[in-house]
Amino acid sequence: MAKLPPTKFHIQAQSGEARAGVLTTRRGQIETPVFMPVGTAGTVKGTRFEELESADLDARIILGNTYHLWLRPGIDVISSAGGLHRFIGWDRALLTDSGGFQVWSLGALRKITEEGTEFRSHVDGSLKFLSPEVSMEVQAALGSDIVMVFDECAPGKAGHEETERSMNLTTRWAKRSRDAFDRLQRDSADTGRLEIEGLSGQQALFGIVQGASHLDLRRQSLEQTVEIGFDGYAIGGLSVGEEKSVMFDVIDDIAPRMPRDSPRYLMGVGTPADLVEAVARGIDMFDCVLPTRNGRTGQAFTSHGKLNIKNAQWTNDSRPLDESCRCSVCRRHSRAYLRHLYMSGEMLASILLTHHNLAFFLDTMRGVRQSIRSGDFPIFRREFTERLDANGE
Ligand SMILES: [Zn+2]
Repeated sequence: MAKLPPTKFHIQAQSGEARAGVLTTRRGQIETPVFMPVGTAGTVKGTRFEELESADLDARIILGNTYHLWLRPGIDVISSAGGLHRFIGWDRALLTDSGGFQVWSLGALRKITEEGTEFRSHVDGSLKFLSPEVSMEVQAALGSDIVMVFDECAPGKAGHEETERSMNLTTRWAKRSRDAFDRLQRDSADTGRLEIEGLSGQQALFGIVQGASHLDLRRQSLEQTVEIGFDGYAIGGLSVGEEKSVMFDVIDDIAPRMPRDSPRYLMGVGTPADLVEAVARGIDMFDCVLPTRNGRTGQAFTSHGKLNIKNAQWTNDSRPLDESCRCSVCRRHSRAYLRHLYMSGEMLASILLTHHNLAFFLDTMRGVRQSIRSGDFPIFRREFTERLDANGE
């Protein structure tokens, strides 16, 4: 019998480079293009899991951060709970990042060698070491459904030589990640194993394309990553301080060259407008902290651009955050009330703004998918952009 894959991906409709499809994982089907809310420490901040599952949001997949969960509560606690799904109480799909980006973001506090990255824990100051092998072990213990390779990220404005060194290290780490991952699957270290018809029951492993703003290096990185072979492919190292036009130049060039039959994931991006523009260039998966983080600081994303709830102009405004949003917050509450909550320091302000923001991101992607399927994506894209531009955002 042929070896079963850990995930399946089918493209059902296409409009230019934009694709609408279904990613089948061992924990459910995910329609793409998809936005994945970020659950850094095992929680999508300010949101109950019931809300994520509700028709309002209906998030099919969320993220967990290996770096944060590894440092606290630690792998012993999560393993003994039976893996991350059981520990947090979430049966739908989970993707974990490798921790590479988090340790890279520590800047001067970390030391990168061929072997891996040494750094001080932000929790207790202890010396820690993260490598491809350690990252794969931690992600197996977490039992996420999609695992990311351990990579190195070059700064957005890095020169050619520095980026080439970093990109080649990423390739060597990708190979070590693949080997360690395969060994761990054979040793049944994956706590999230779940057999369903047509799939292997194993975790899926995604590779990451690096190379900063240098298109020749991006292409090399893609070639080397595809040669190793993964279940999906991500573009990493964007949205790290480079100009937005540089980000789209990279996506323009790289996305259409990525394997057509595998999901394409743009890591850590972006605003609703960024998502729509990246979909138009062939991207299928996204994650970003913007809807949750900005929700906590009083900023709402709407179809007419960003809205700062602190502004005095909303003091007596009885309209919802977004008149075209049907989320439970917009159906029930006014800008005036949300502003009052925020100005009073009430925690409900963060909760409600986060809910609306997630609904807006997930709804935007629903609209994107429907329009690709119906052939109206170019119209959807133009109208979406025009509405945002009308507000100067
Ligand atoms: Zn809303």
